[in-house]
Amino acid sequence: MSTVKTRFPPSPTGHLHLGGARTALFNWLFARHHGGTFLLRFEDTDRERSKQEYVDSIKEALEWLELFWDEGPYFQSKRLDVYAEFARKLLEEGKAYYCECSPEVLEQKRKQALAEGRKPKYDGTCREKGLGPGPGRVLRFRCPEVGTTVVEDLIRGPVAFDHRELDDFVIMRPDGVPTYQFAVVIDDLTMGITHVIRGDDHLSNTPKQILLFEALGAKPPKYAHVPMILGPDGTRLSKRHGAQSILAYRDEGYLPQAMRNYLVRLGWSYGDQEIFSLEEMIEKFDLARISKSPARFDPDKLLALNAHYIRQEDTHRLAELVVPFLAKLGVEIKNPADEKFLKAVESVKPRARTLKEMAEMMRFYFVDEITYEEKAAKKFLKPEIAPVLEEIVKALEGMPAFEEKALEDLFRGLAEKHQLKLKHVAQPVRVALTGRTVSPGLFEIMDILGKETVIKRIKKALAFIKEH
Ligand code: GLU
Repeated sequence: MSTVKTRFPPSPTGHLHLGGARTALFNWLFARHHGGTFLLRFEDTDRERSKQEYVDSIKEALEWLELFWDEGPYFQSKRLDVYAEFARKLLEEGKAYYCECSPEVLEQKRKQALAEGRKPKYDGTCREKGLGPGPGRVLRFRCPEVGTTVVEDLIRGPVAFDHRELDDFVIMRPDGVPTYQFAVVIDDLTMGITHVIRGDDHLSNTPKQILLFEALGAKPPKYAHVPMILGPDGTRLSKRHGAQSILAYRDEGYLPQAMRNYLVRLGWSYGDQEIFSLEEMIEKFDLARISKSPARFDPDKLLALNAHYIRQEDTHRLAELVVPFLAKLGVEIKNPADEKFLKAVESVKPRARTLKEMAEMMRFYFVDEITYEEKAAKKFLKPEIAPVLEEIVKALEGMPAFEEKALEDLFRGLAEKHQLKLKHVAQPVRVALTGRTVSPGLFEIMDILGKETVIKRIKKALAFIKEH
């Protein structure tokens, strides 16, 4: 067993989105690659904004992506005694101190600093007061005033932070709840985290966290800050770009393997390879190949990848997966292993880009009444085609069974007889059977629908032509 240990520590204040899912994937892959451990931790110290609903949905999204954790989930809200203990230690060693400055005074000083063009930071009013605990008092970390802390980032290299840029930041709030900076360090320390892989929006927190580790006499983990994800227009990724919660992608009919493959390529590359199986990802993933510049979210590429994985997927499995999507369209499938149903899945598999599309493309097989797309009906269900359709019905009625070859001969013969191109016979029948002008192969459809349904639908089209 390797000693590598990574973590994914979401705040349960919202659903899991693309950025968080990528962070989870990178941490999971890094741990798997090294035969290490991946843990899940909920940073839920913000009691107002943290919700059980989000804990559940984040877990559900990780499970859907098959990013299973080996340890946890831990909850910071259940570890308050641990943070208090470490805070006491820092206090006793003079590395932290109580501060009684009121929020109003601090706010006033902050405004003044901004007005004078200075960077606002705590001015050290209480630093040497030697205060004890008391109502409204926070605990501050005594930051070194001179020197620099260098973050040896595994992606971007060394980044130096001048201590004059930092201030004595708060580690414990008056109610005994730790701040993010403190809780994250105590957790990473006590949980034995070796590598922290997270978004580069956290880079400026890292020197503070390293200083806390040092103050506690511990070695900090290694840090890797991943550049952010941009929207297709180059601005920071947001809902505006259609970047929704991971579970929304599931509900739109994306496959988890497509999503994982898409996410791994968001900022990581291996030559120009685009398709990675899970095993390959684990084998090839490393931090050195993470790009130093931001990745761009491209929904079309995600869609194309999903289409690829649908084509790759086992038909039996796809059949099971598409059932709930058909149910949403009012089609109930009792046995997804039914041979006809599998054939129907097979017929749309090469074309569907999502399971939702797949269900839409398949719906016509199962409805009692076909509704025609207006344009399709107008163009193809015209009086002059009625005699041809009547002949088709007659011929089909005389066929003992549907066979592709016999059907093709019939259609060709009729086209010739009426001096029409094959497609001029096929398209009206397609519209009669599916309501649309685009569908799987006509003879394939006829075989799946079966003789009785085919004849019924063509007769209905004939009635429609008469009426109009
Ligand atoms: N809870 C933090 C977040 O969701 C975790 C940051 C970290 O990885 O340290 O951004």
